[in-house]
Amino acid sequence: MSEKINVAEIFGENVFSDAVMEQRLPKKVYKELKKTIEEGKELDPMIAEVVANAMKDWAIEKGATHYTHWFQPLTGVTAEKHDSFISAPKADGTTLMEFSGKELIKGEPDASSFPSGGLRATFEARGYTAWDCTSPAFVREDEAGAILCIPTAFCSYTGEALDKKTPLLRSMEAVNTQALRLLRLFGNTTSKKVMPSVGPEQEYFLVDKQKYLKRKDLIFTGRTLFGAMPPKGQELDDHYFGTIRPRIGAFMKDLNVELWKLGVTAKTQHNEVAPAQHEIAPIYDQCNVAVDHNQIVMETLKRVASRHGMACLLHEKPFAGVNGSGKHNNWSITTDDGINLLDPGKTPHQNIQFLLVLTCIMKAVDTHADLLRESAADVGNDHRLGANEAPPAIISMFLGEQLEDVIEQLVSTGAATSSISGEVLKTGVSTLPDFVKDATDRNRTSPFAFTGNKFEFRMVGSSDSIAGPNIILNTIVAEAFSEACDILEKAEDFDVAVHDLIKEYATKYRRIIFNGNGYSEEWVAEAERRGLPNIRSMVEAIPSITTDKAVKMFEKFGVYTRAELESRSEVMYEAYSKAINIEAKAMIDIAGKQIIPSVVKYTTALAKSINLVKDACGDADISTQKELLLESSDLLAETKLALSKLQELVDGAANAGEGQKLAHYYLEVIKPAMDALRAPVDKLEMIVDKDMWPMPSYGDLIFEV
Ligand code: ADP
Ligand code: MG
Repeated sequence: MSEKINVAEIFGENVFSDAVMEQRLPKKVYKELKKTIEEGKELDPMIAEVVANAMKDWAIEKGATHYTHWFQPLTGVTAEKHDSFISAPKADGTTLMEFSGKELIKGEPDASSFPSGGLRATFEARGYTAWDCTSPAFVREDEAGAILCIPTAFCSYTGEALDKKTPLLRSMEAVNTQALRLLRLFGNTTSKKVMPSVGPEQEYFLVDKQKYLKRKDLIFTGRTLFGAMPPKGQELDDHYFGTIRPRIGAFMKDLNVELWKLGVTAKTQHNEVAPAQHEIAPIYDQCNVAVDHNQIVMETLKRVASRHGMACLLHEKPFAGVNGSGKHNNWSITTDDGINLLDPGKTPHQNIQFLLVLTCIMKAVDTHADLLRESAADVGNDHRLGANEAPPAIISMFLGEQLEDVIEQLVSTGAATSSISGEVLKTGVSTLPDFVKDATDRNRTSPFAFTGNKFEFRMVGSSDSIAGPNIILNTIVAEAFSEACDILEKAEDFDVAVHDLIKEYATKYRRIIFNGNGYSEEWVAEAERRGLPNIRSMVEAIPSITTDKAVKMFEKFGVYTRAELESRSEVMYEAYSKAINIEAKAMIDIAGKQIIPSVVKYTTALAKSINLVKDACGDADISTQKELLLESSDLLAETKLALSKLQELVDGAANAGEGQKLAHYYLEVIKPAMDALRAPVDKLEMIVDKDMWPMPSYGDLIFEV
């Protein structure tokens, strides 16, 4: 049996946590730092000096030789530049380990190679990383040794955000300010801070490393560009929540230990719908910590998988025709004294504060459905959203029976007088306990579902940072709160005014609520009737961040400037074009150098065998061989033609403009040409001798991990 793990002992052992700070910092310094963290006060350089020193000593005890400002540029992955603690040698040739307050607070990576969308001309390469003291530093151990990682924000010389953390922190401040206003209206004078809480459920695939290495498409693009469906897919539902196999179990165990050491509360793990697909979820945390932790989870998944001879695929759709991966972003808003603003209580119809919060969120989601959709857009997610699987590309809200009924009452009679309550669930087995079931069932098809005391935004891509979706959620809700407070703060009779406002919002924004089957054709038509946007691709989603409506809101709440939004849209168009260009070139490479030669080998062997059979036995019926030869030769010709066409179109990108125009070229011209190349190749895979096919099949990849 494996050795015992003492979770309580290892949890957070590599984190410069509150407890470590309290223990290692002088009382006064600790108090000052806490003030900065909790109340957003500016950090005194003297304090930073002391903290840096304590952090360095602690990290060195953990074996760290280097430190890095760990940040999240617009590439979607984290970036780091390592500096050792070593200082210039003294006259006697010895050296000291140094780390100053200045180095802790501010770094200056040469930023010219990070995408900035024109925010920063390349000759103005300066970019600064600034310590985010609300997310704890940690020591990460890997093949490069132990490194002190300091979560930081990343800005340009002129103060524009070049990363995802800066606007995230700004959006958290916005929701904090507006939610406090709202709470004060209801007589709450004690809560000091309101923070969004986030718990992301992360899906991923594991495949065998050796097989992975034989798939150039997986290596270059993270997904398979060719591949015929295996005889068995996920139709038996025998993988979902199935017993975890030993190899995967060993991986998960290691993964958990690594995450726990880094203070990530890895909590739930299970097999997902598709073969070789799994999920991990942490316990929710303050928004920016949850975002950082999700980045750590994604990095750790890859690292630990590699150690176990596997590759972790975070792509949204690694295998066409097989269930893809997403991320469910569970989101709520909580006060520092533990009140969850999304908790309806037992009788939501009497909970006026909750009803105001709820209808404000309805308003926010309806008004900015396009922004939410955009926040879930990435190149890989185009294969999922609105395609053959959950969730649809149309934003709607699922409230469940109980709340929908309350809204219905509000709309029809102007007042809600009752709440449907959860009934006792009868199992019909006397030895099983009866329990009260939830007042609301689940709806797997809804992109934005109320699940008891939180919303679950279920559209997010599995490989994407969750910063984007949370920036949008925080900001649109801040705006709705702010507009409600503007009205209510002026009201003569608060009770009447709040009642009227809830009714008004419930009526006006009710069209966003949909409790039915989001996969159905009828819903697409119904959503169109309701005037809800149905944005089918990432390229078509990008313009939503620079509409006047969006710019006005982001500027009002200090989350993004117009320049920052425009730069982001540039970065996204560029990212899209680059990704599809790489995919197209990988297809050309694989088809030209691996697939066509294999098919030629196969047809040659087949032709030879026909001749051999003819020579040996002139009367033999060789029509089947001939048919096969004909079929594979035709498909080969189709492949070659599609390949040449794709090559021609990829070359044509040079004259297809740039930015938005180029992205549309990739979406509308290149992608169909890629599909045209894939089709004959997938058919050939079903004909050609398996031993001659140049790469592992879907079956090999997802059933033999
Ligand atoms: P469900 O069964 O509804 O999916 P779980 O309890 O499994 O809910 O939680 C899923 C994720 O949601 C977990 O990461 C969990 O920590 C997170 N979560 C639970 N409550 C909240 C909350 N109030 N706010 C944000 N996230 C939450
Ligand atoms: Mg869930």
